[in-house]
Amino acid sequence: MELLGKNLGEIQSFLVEHKFPKFRAKQLMDYIYKRYIFDFDDMMQLPETMRNWLKEHCKISIPTIVTEKTAPDGQTKKLLLRFADNNQVETVLMKQHYGNSVCVSSQVGCAMGCIFCASTTGGLYRNLETHEIVGQVLLFGALLKERIHSIVVMGAGEPLQNYKNTIQALRFLHEKESFDIGYRRMTLSTCGIVENIYLLADEGIPITLALSLHAPNDTVRREIMPIGGYYELADVLDAVKTYYEKTDRRVTFEYILIDGVNSSIAQAHELGELVKDFPNCNVNLIPVNGNEHIHLFKPSKRNTEAFKNIVASYGVSVTVRKEMGDAIQAACGQLKIQHAKSSDSNATDTEEKSGTRLAEEMAKKQ
Ligand code: SAH
Repeated sequence: MELLGKNLGEIQSFLVEHKFPKFRAKQLMDYIYKRYIFDFDDMMQLPETMRNWLKEHCKISIPTIVTEKTAPDGQTKKLLLRFADNNQVETVLMKQHYGNSVCVSSQVGCAMGCIFCASTTGGLYRNLETHEIVGQVLLFGALLKERIHSIVVMGAGEPLQNYKNTIQALRFLHEKESFDIGYRRMTLSTCGIVENIYLLADEGIPITLALSLHAPNDTVRREIMPIGGYYELADVLDAVKTYYEKTDRRVTFEYILIDGVNSSIAQAHELGELVKDFPNCNVNLIPVNGNEHIHLFKPSKRNTEAFKNIVASYGVSVTVRKEMGDAIQAACGQLKIQHAKSSDSNATDTEEKSGTRLAEEMAKKQ
């Protein structure tokens, strides 16, 4: 049995079923999530017979670190991780003033096809399992030996297309015996799968919802996000409003600013009109990150400021996202693509050391 991502009750029943005392479950979880010990041989509080039994019947599938990059300012760290089947995803750590925030991926690749996003260029490979989402957070915890304060589901993939596993992972990360992260410190970003926004509203977990809006009307949205052809903005906004009404959580609208596409003065007015009556929302403007595959450009600082001021003039709360991790290709999917091509960057780059690097770091900190 895979132990990663199983909660106390599940591990208890499993152990009891195999004639081990119930209290061993909590000890096992403490080893994994509080002390970051993943080798059964090192769990010395457990009797030898049990350790041997665990080795034979259970596993803790920690992903392998393929590449580790740290931005020059030390505030952003990005891991390219590999799972047992050789599929890879990216996970980003952002050190914020309030604590460590981990941005997790929910799928390998993505089916959504947004033109600005590097994660979707090869299409969708597969959904991540619950334990693979949890494993991304666990690896950063193990590297830092510090508390993880918040989670954003904003890496590769569309989390509402991998609904069950993503929600199960968030519920697990909330549990006291794992990371004890409050739902209010979790954000899930979606391109707007309407039915599943309604489902999420009824889950009873008050996480923050971020909607990738990215356009002030259906025509522009369809040009840059194929999902715009399936759901009309009015329906997406209705679903998001219901989410707000049921959870009382302030909603974030993400809006990537792309020069010549969605960032004109007229479009700023249109965006202001679109969201001005939405109760308690925040618009987060994100100057687009381009690269050699994504030939899109951000507007000038001046135009970005002008856009922001116009939206704000409608009484809407609006911020421009701090660009963390540009130097390490921290934007969605960029590191993976770059790694595939072979890498060079001005950031600290640890190539292909698999688990050894993590083991070394952990040994140092213990
Ligand atoms: N599928 C989900 C989550 C993944 S994308 C969604 O659509 O929301 C989440 C976010 O990644 C986007 O909203 C945007 O904030 C960011 N992003 C993707 N590509 C980007 C790029 N080229 N430049 C800057 N931000 C980008």
